[in-house]
Amino acid sequence: MSVSVFITPGEIEAARERLAGVIRQTPVEPSPVLSARAGAPVLLKLEHHQFSGSFKFRGASNALRCLNDAGRAAGVVAVSTGNHGRGLARAAAGAGVRCVIAMSELVPDNKVAAIRGEGADVLIRGRSQDEAQVEVDRLVAEEGMTMLPPFDHPAVIAGQGTLGLEMIEAVPELETVVVQLSGGGLISGVAAAIKARKPGVRIIGVSMERGAAMYASLAAGHPVEVEEQPTLADSLGGGIGLDNRHTFAMVRELVDDVVLLDEAEIAAGIRHCYREERQIVEGSGAVTVGALLAGRIAVGGPTMLLLSGGNIDMELHRRIISGENVDVAGERG
Ligand SMILES: *Cc1c(COP(=O)(O)O)cnc(C)c1O
Repeated sequence: MSVSVFITPGEIEAARERLAGVIRQTPVEPSPVLSARAGAPVLLKLEHHQFSGSFKFRGASNALRCLNDAGRAAGVVAVSTGNHGRGLARAAAGAGVRCVIAMSELVPDNKVAAIRGEGADVLIRGRSQDEAQVEVDRLVAEEGMTMLPPFDHPAVIAGQGTLGLEMIEAVPELETVVVQLSGGGLISGVAAAIKARKPGVRIIGVSMERGAAMYASLAAGHPVEVEEQPTLADSLGGGIGLDNRHTFAMVRELVDDVVLLDEAEIAAGIRHCYREERQIVEGSGAVTVGALLAGRIAVGGPTMLLLSGGNIDMELHRRIISGENVDVAGERG
């Protein structure tokens, strides 16, 4: 039986010091339209403006800076749905460390190109994250590379947690925080940071109906596998790892509720972000807004929605904001 390990508020504060001058402190903006709709102040944390286009740059940069010299010299390798790879590639390039990213065939082309553009090697393997992971395991075993996973790693969680510090410091009277949920590195860090300062804040996770691994695992009482399916929230795909060490226990303990969205609700989130907030946000980044628009979030007081990433294919984005009924499952077969 593996013992789960919680990330402490002290580790998150240490990550913030390590990342000062490395990451961008992203803006918090009120949303008049969503506030009117919810009947309470709704604020948006614009993390899609982070370097590399998503919050993943925080965790990747922190993990990279926590490595010793031997770990850095060996180079880093990771499996990714796109944004962790891009964040890690950028962080590694900045630190002069070799980087290899293994991805499944489901990852959109724009994300593959962006990671190559950051100077990393990309290997496409299989139809799922788990199949891509086999290649990562081989590079670790045969070439001695250092694996930096996308979510279930203490330094990654602590890095994502710096977002939580920025949120609660920007709006100390916060009552509800709505955050994307996939492997759970993001929400674990954010919840640990915020609840250490203000335990009463409600933390709500949002996943998509198509392949919500953490949701299924919480229901089962232990990590379970779900079938990975194409979705507009492509950055939320993938399992949580059957040998999950940190995020499953942290999510179970710290997250108050999990909401699932269908594809039309995700598209509505993207559309709202563009038309009403003038923000270009990818499907995964917009599920928090989609959840509020769908009436799934009980808003009692000041509520912050995270926009977690902006790395969407611009042709797909154009079709969604023009109101086309886009179903990525039908297109990819
Ligand atoms: C990775 C990612 C998430 C989910 O983060 P987890 O730590 O896996 O829960 C949400 N939004 C975007 C844009 C991401 O890239």
